[in-house]
Amino acid sequence: MERNTMESLYDQRQFREMGHRLIDLLADHIANTTSGKNPKTIDWAEPSTELESWKDFFNNGNADDFFEKVIQRTTHTHHPKYIGHQVGVPAPITALTGLLASLLNNGMAVYEMGMSPTAMERIITDHICKKVGYGETSRGLLTSGGTLANLTALLSARKAKAKHNVWTEGSSQQLGIMVSEEAHYCVDRAARIMGLGDQGIIKVPVTKDFTMDTSQLENYHAKALENGVHVFAIVGSAPSTATGIYDDLEAIARFAKEKGLWFHVDGAHGGAAIFSKKYKHLLAGIEKSDSVVIDGHKMLMMPTLTTALLYREGIHSHTTFVQKADYLLTHTDEEDWYNGGKRTFECTKSMMGLHWYILLKLYGDDIFDQNVTKLYDLGKEFAQLIHSDSNFELAIEPMSNILCFRYVAPQLSLEQLNSLNQSIRQQLLEDGEFYMVQTQLRGVHYLRTSLMNPFTTMEHLGWLLEKIKTLAEKLMAPEPTL
Ligand SMILES: *Cc1c(COP(=O)(O)O)cnc(C)c1O
Repeated sequence: MERNTMESLYDQRQFREMGHRLIDLLADHIANTTSGKNPKTIDWAEPSTELESWKDFFNNGNADDFFEKVIQRTTHTHHPKYIGHQVGVPAPITALTGLLASLLNNGMAVYEMGMSPTAMERIITDHICKKVGYGETSRGLLTSGGTLANLTALLSARKAKAKHNVWTEGSSQQLGIMVSEEAHYCVDRAARIMGLGDQGIIKVPVTKDFTMDTSQLENYHAKALENGVHVFAIVGSAPSTATGIYDDLEAIARFAKEKGLWFHVDGAHGGAAIFSKKYKHLLAGIEKSDSVVIDGHKMLMMPTLTTALLYREGIHSHTTFVQKADYLLTHTDEEDWYNGGKRTFECTKSMMGLHWYILLKLYGDDIFDQNVTKLYDLGKEFAQLIHSDSNFELAIEPMSNILCFRYVAPQLSLEQLNSLNQSIRQQLLEDGEFYMVQTQLRGVHYLRTSLMNPFTTMEHLGWLLEKIKTLAEKLMAPEPTL
């Protein structure tokens, strides 16, 4: 068959063969990574080296090697030594739903361009609303990521709470939101996209434990009013990204009610704890929120990107992007829940509901409970190990599976320790056995880990600390004199 023809593009035999080969490769990959058999989590290269390698492959490589090369040249989330970012470890079944969705490519902007994923989305979001503790009038949707979901929620909040209709009239009053200074940067970005500016982003300080200092809310709110800012929403982090610390949602809910604010919970990472019998107490008060965001691609083992955005009063999800939806109030049985595109930022959207639906059908809530509970438990155990070793120091007692800690040595100054921990992290990256990240908290440089992988054990984390110690000792050793 000729190359470059439609016939060859659609050659069924080739599709079958390549597909089977890919599934075999991925099944081997899962086995080799989850077992920890592969020596590396990441085979790190400088950006310029990586670029050259793919340029060369484009011109000279054998396309038959493409799958293997991609697998080799990516960070292996399934490896138990993958303990870095909050990107989740996808359940293998969700790779199959991803494949199915890619080929069928129903864009979902209107009902008939995605009948089944639309129906599934309704079933799933109704279910999660119930888990959150919302009542019968709640409604949710799926959208492409926590960042977009937070923006969408804040747009709904503005629509519901601003005195003017900004959607039709543009901004005529300085509006504002209140949020912890530790919140994910996307909340700040969303507020700026909405035109709130510096004045409209009221950053509430955190306590020494990195949770929003709710004793300051009254203060900051009054100051904003004095400055002519109409505060319309408050955002609680569940948890905040850098430290993994949850805000006190009960206290924020009380304040929001008292002041008539929209209460939004950014649970992109840890909203998933609603599924954990052991840890759902961290989210106490979430049922009083007006909206909640939960990422499927973080703690719920789905591929990027899929995020649930849930509204306590579903009507608000219908009014975000339209001038009027009054008819919905009078004819609720006529609600066109099935025209998803009216309620989401996206026009075309991937069939992301498939992942949630099949996971829940095959494994039930229990699989989410197991994953969250196991990883949060592991966070606590790892904290104990760090405490027991005088070479290490925790930034703060963890509330989740995110931990910030650093190597310490009594003879070194803060600057020296900062630069030492930075070097440790760089060497870990270049070594590639473990993958972890770093953060700065109040001028102190920490190594940061998100324990996202259900195959990670205390044994792996013990090896990690040993490795860090060895690296630190090498880095601290005096330069050999020749
Ligand atoms: C990850 C995260 C986000 C951003 O979500 P994306 O899905 O990456 O867009 C927002 N808020 C918090 C608290 C997060 O952890």
